[in-house]
Amino acid sequence: MGIIKAKDVSYQYVRRDEDDNIEDINIALDKVNLDVERGQFICILGHNGSGKSTFAKHINALLTPSEGTLYVDGIDTSDEDRVMDVRQKAGMIFQNPDNQIIASIVEEDVGFGPENMGVPTDEIWERVTRSLKAVGMWKYREGSPNKLSGGQKQRVAIAGVMAMEPQCIVADEPTAMLDPIGRSEVIEALHQLNREKGVTVILITHYMEEVVEADKVFVMDQGKIALKGTPKEVFSRVDDLRKLSLDVPQVTMLAYELKKEGLDIPSGILTRQELIDALPTPPYN
Ligand code: ADP
Ligand code: MG
Repeated sequence: MGIIKAKDVSYQYVRRDEDDNIEDINIALDKVNLDVERGQFICILGHNGSGKSTFAKHINALLTPSEGTLYVDGIDTSDEDRVMDVRQKAGMIFQNPDNQIIASIVEEDVGFGPENMGVPTDEIWERVTRSLKAVGMWKYREGSPNKLSGGQKQRVAIAGVMAMEPQCIVADEPTAMLDPIGRSEVIEALHQLNREKGVTVILITHYMEEVVEADKVFVMDQGKIALKGTPKEVFSRVDDLRKLSLDVPQVTMLAYELKKEGLDIPSGILTRQELIDALPTPPYN
């Protein structure tokens, strides 16, 4: 079994009036099946309201399925006795960096999670050191998080999750509030943790460029998995993506248009270099 396995997971938000009568039912997840292998870097895409955050909250047992089953490292997240185990295995990073920082000194913030878990003091400091170095924030350890940029704050938040030594990190649009530099810092930090520490990463994003290097991409629509595959497979389906109100990376779009005009180019071009290499050599003589 993969580290995350969703089996026919459905979730309904139910709104009730004062008398507890059901006023409204919103189907946010509709029979989602999804498997993530240990050590993978996967992305979940989808327009607003497609169910991405609802799914993310299931991985951390903040929500449990209305129907179906979700396993995190083999643990059924609906098992109330094991909620803390699930949370320890799957750490969450949210959109707003300001809501995730608790302490007034960077290193204390990073140590907060392991301290809460009852990790011995010596080991807390080892973990804090390792995590801050891993995200490139070691030199800011004695400073105040308030003075950091958005991207730096998110990296501190990632270090805080790392210090709890999860097997898996779920990042729900962690770059949505950041400038382009902050965005690439955060994405690079996540890739590095994946590569060097083998942490499974589930990145939820609507920036197509952030998806290019993923092992696998899932596209959600109306609470369902509408498309899945490697980035190349998914981005080959430009028309389908557009129907799902998603843009594709500019370079993919350009390659797609050139192909439609009759140029001999493979589908699913993801980077500038791939396009350059795929373009027919002009006849110079
Ligand atoms: P995404 O993260 O892809 O934007 P969400 O998981 O936040 O999607 O939302 C999926 C659906 O569930 C949407 O229709 C949204 O309006 C609804 N929804 C999300 N949170 C709540 C909530 N707390 N109560 C009722 N409906 C909700
Ligand atoms: Mg969301």
